[in-house]
Amino acid sequence: MQTIETDFLIIGAGVAGLRAAIEVSDAGRVLVLTKDRLTESTSEYAQGGIAVALSDEDEVSLHEQDTIQAGAGLCNPEAVKILVEEGPPQIEKLIEWGVEFDRDGGSLSFTREGAHSRNRVLHSHGDSTGREITRTLYHTTLAIKNISYRSFSGVVDVLRNDHGEVCGVVAWDQKQRELIPIHARAVLMATGGLGCVYWETTNPNVATGDGMAIAYRAGAALADMEMVQFHPTALFTEGAPRFLLSEALRGEGARLLNAAGEPFMDRYDKRGDLAPRDIVSRAIVAELRRTKSGPAYLDMTHLDAKRIPKRFPRIYETCLHYGIDITRKPVPVHPAAHYAMGGVHTDLDGRTTVDRLYAAGETACTGVHGANRLASNSLLEGLVYGARAGAAMRERAGSVVASGPIPERGDPVPLPANSVFDLRRLAWRRAGIERSAETLAEGLDELDRLSSLFAPGVMRSNRQGFEANNIYLLTTLIIRSALAREESRGAHYRSDFPDVKQEFCRHSRVEDGREVEFFKTVS
Ligand SMILES: Cc1cc2nc3c(=O)[nH]c(=O)nc-3n(C[C@H](O)[C@H](O)[C@H](O)COP(=O)(O)OP(=O)(O)OC[C@H]3O[C@@H](n4cnc5c(N)ncnc54)[C@H](O)[C@@H]3O)c2cc1C
Repeated sequence: MQTIETDFLIIGAGVAGLRAAIEVSDAGRVLVLTKDRLTESTSEYAQGGIAVALSDEDEVSLHEQDTIQAGAGLCNPEAVKILVEEGPPQIEKLIEWGVEFDRDGGSLSFTREGAHSRNRVLHSHGDSTGREITRTLYHTTLAIKNISYRSFSGVVDVLRNDHGEVCGVVAWDQKQRELIPIHARAVLMATGGLGCVYWETTNPNVATGDGMAIAYRAGAALADMEMVQFHPTALFTEGAPRFLLSEALRGEGARLLNAAGEPFMDRYDKRGDLAPRDIVSRAIVAELRRTKSGPAYLDMTHLDAKRIPKRFPRIYETCLHYGIDITRKPVPVHPAAHYAMGGVHTDLDGRTTVDRLYAAGETACTGVHGANRLASNSLLEGLVYGARAGAAMRERAGSVVASGPIPERGDPVPLPANSVFDLRRLAWRRAGIERSAETLAEGLDELDRLSSLFAPGVMRSNRQGFEANNIYLLTTLIIRSALAREESRGAHYRSDFPDVKQEFCRHSRVEDGREVEFFKTVS
């Protein structure tokens, strides 16, 4: 079996992984692994922009306040402070490296998104912010000789030595169709989110929560797994993927309508169409239920028809591709799983509870987003906490790690047809926008019935098989955490416990072999 040696392994080339790679690169060889093409990441699809308190009308303390407010009592205040204070210098560095943010004349152009009290969202090429940032970070890494890449190499598990330290990974080489061990002094999980655990999602196919599942199997604690954000406005038309219709559209005046063509958000929240995502998502579901007809629509037909295609070229073109001219017709929309506030429990420098294993970006949970992420804070999190994790990994540069055994894996077990679809439907129905003890318990029973197919350590013969193992595990953890949180807060809504409860103003935590516990702060 071929073995690869490096100093630092970065799993994932989204904004968090790329930023970390740059930060750690002066301390040794860095190998960045991706599961798919190098450019296939959620970061690549991020549209609306990146929030940062850089405009003349804004202040870091206001960004802090809005983030904490959106987080529904669960934000880690220290993590938020770091995000908003280290955000501006990170953005200035991006501009130095070549990111072209849109400008009005010579000045940066800031837009508004839901639950922001100021216009503070920077954007690039209208609605291609993530692509512009990852493109620039990637080009920056190309000039650094210590950084190399290996695509189509999905990590399956980490390797651990006799001291319990992480000393590398095992990756599935999709081209050679074999497992390859890779040794390293420190490993960063920057594999993004877990939207693909759910049937309806805005996330690309790579977002199957692998980093979270792998870290959990390695003994790391995960936090706030029940906190999954559902974006209210994904394109909902036959034959189209659940393409995201950015909140920035509502920031520019787009309105939600019910099937009868009536605006309805003002009846659900005084902030109307710009209420936080969880409220808008539930309002859509409630309105569909109330009127017994659907779908809901996002209406931009009253906005400047010349400006929309220029301001949102990617959205305009994509909808047009599916037969909808958004300047002339309201677009059918439905909520879809969008973002994981929970993930691998880390400190403020990306350290997990397992030595030499780090996590950053959407994979990690510092508690920065609390129970509900404020729009456009995620790219910023990737930059700020990716850089911090990279710096923390540098500390490991001097210490050599003992290698560990490469676990034996049995013969591959085939996945029954449709089992991934069934799992994703299960998560959507049982642990979706609204949960209750009943739906969650049913979900656990259904998972139990599938347990023989997803026994721990089972070998697969392709990428989808390894992803299915992770989806199964994460669905179980989301459901267990959601059952334990007997209240409603932020993105987590329990129809049997609709109110916020003071006793649950704490983070949930799951670890292998233990019941779900609650603790006061993540840092
Ligand atoms: C449609 C959409 C629009 C969004 N718009 C915005 C926005 O405007 N502003 C904002 O702040 N946030 C936005 N978000 C959220 C934001 O894009 C993500 O949270 C963020 O980009 C995550 O970055 P990341 O670096 O953590 O992970 P990602 O960008 O998802 O990168 C993950 C990387 O890990 C790799 N990977 C995954 N599993 C494995 C494995 N097993 N082995 C090896 N590699 C693996 C992938 O190949 C990929 O390279 C949006 C999300 C979506 C879905």
